Amino acid sequence: MKPIPNSIAAQAAELAEWRQDLHRHPELGYNEHRTAAKVAERLGAFGFDAVETGIGGTGVLGVLHGRNGPGGAAILLRADMDALPIMETTGADYASTNPGVMHACGHDGHTTMLLGEAKHLAATRNFDGTVYFCFQPAEEGGAGAKAMLDDGLFERYRPRAVYGMHNWPGLPVGEFAVKDGPVLAATGQFTVTVTGKGGHGAAPQFARDPIVAAAHLITALQTIVSRVVDPLQPAVLSVTSFQSGSAFNVIPDQAVLMGTIRTFDDAVSDLIIAEMDRICARTAESFGVAVEVDRGNVAYPPTINDAAEADFTESVMRDAFGDANVHRGHPPTMAGEDFSYFAREVPGAYVIIGNGDSAPLHNARYDFNDEAAPLGTTYWARLVEKALPVAQG
Ligand SMILES: [Zn+2]
Ligand SMILES: [Zn+2]
Repeated sequence: MKPIPNSIAAQAAELAEWRQDLHRHPELGYNEHRTAAKVAERLGAFGFDAVETGIGGTGVLGVLHGRNGPGGAAILLRADMDALPIMETTGADYASTNPGVMHACGHDGHTTMLLGEAKHLAATRNFDGTVYFCFQPAEEGGAGAKAMLDDGLFERYRPRAVYGMHNWPGLPVGEFAVKDGPVLAATGQFTVTVTGKGGHGAAPQFARDPIVAAAHLITALQTIVSRVVDPLQPAVLSVTSFQSGSAFNVIPDQAVLMGTIRTFDDAVSDLIIAEMDRICARTAESFGVAVEVDRGNVAYPPTINDAAEADFTESVMRDAFGDANVHRGHPPTMAGEDFSYFAREVPGAYVIIGNGDSAPLHNARYDFNDEAAPLGTTYWARLVEKALPVAQG
């Protein structure tokens, strides 16, 4: 195991300060104005060759050339900047000052680690080629990565490969993990509106009860994963909300269901959606109600790690942190990530960095572990040095 570079170890207190400042001022997707301004200001102060702001809303892209100036291969390192609509209960002295908004997924830490690498690498320039530092908005359901791509990100800054990193509660600090193939799920959401005919609770014969129809629908939807999808294909369909009615003696007009679909394969997602449409249409018919399905406009593709890039990042981590601290084949989860949009365009690898024994992600008591920041920054540093080595003359 190589030691953490001195310049990064010396940065630890500064990284914690940056991270806690971001934590104190969390901003929701596409509203990361203060965060993006801080990022852009720091990249400029580090002496970056170019900094573009306002990409896909609030996205920031910093360009850093190596020893030999422009030209050569380019890679992209990505961090996310947005927070979540959660009321923080950590009690930390740097807790959120923006009520109801919180960095509960550690994107404050991700932004900080990439800024740490930006400072380190701008000083050393110990590489040959170009590194794009990408700070994206709205990872939490807003598809900020897609917004940046739609805004021409890869037309102006096309990398050979993309790299992402997420902190992982439960994995000890100092440990890392990566796997090839699917690592995070495709995500889709749905709202199903069942419209019947309301009436007196004592006279159902004059009504078309949307609650009974919706209840049957919920049960029928469970058969998609259990009876239609190949048992060897991971899939989740969860109905997570059922809203209807407000009185004990009134049959309401409407029932509204919401939920999520998770898979690792677009074909499985398509199958689930087709089956869901069929069940909704037939249930409407059999209960004499109308059923409308809305899938919103955000459906993240699955995050698929390129096998060669997964091997490469694994070798970077083993070299930097020792074999005992690196796990290959970390079990995938059915959570989603919009890093998938980048990794669909060019080869990529998304790795996991231990956050220690913290509360889970998206929990009001969660906090990014500042001890992990210098390690994440070191991973970025080693990755660039190995991906874009300076030619030995
Ligand atoms: Zn999250
Ligand atoms: Zn996250």
